[in-house]
Amino acid sequence: MPIYEYECDGCGKRFEVRQAIGEDGSDLKCPDCGVVGPTRLFSSFFCSGSDDLSFSGAGGSSCSTCSTGNCTSCGI
Ligand SMILES: [Zn+2]
Repeated sequence: MPIYEYECDGCGKRFEVRQAIGEDGSDLKCPDCGVVGPTRLFSSFFCSGSDDLSFSGAGGSSCSTCSTGNCTSCGI
């Protein structure tokens, strides 16, 4: 499942959300101020190459093929 980065319209905080393809995130809330409907910054965040702190324990790398973010299926 890809990870999307959003920016809060209220306070400008950026946060990442693991989200199914096709969801627009319009019902997401800012973790800091609670404003609904953050702006999506980019949508090709399949392979960050780092174990995201927010999702540690959820399976490590978001790439299904590798854990380094450096394989051919990462495609970035
Ligand atoms: Zn906010």
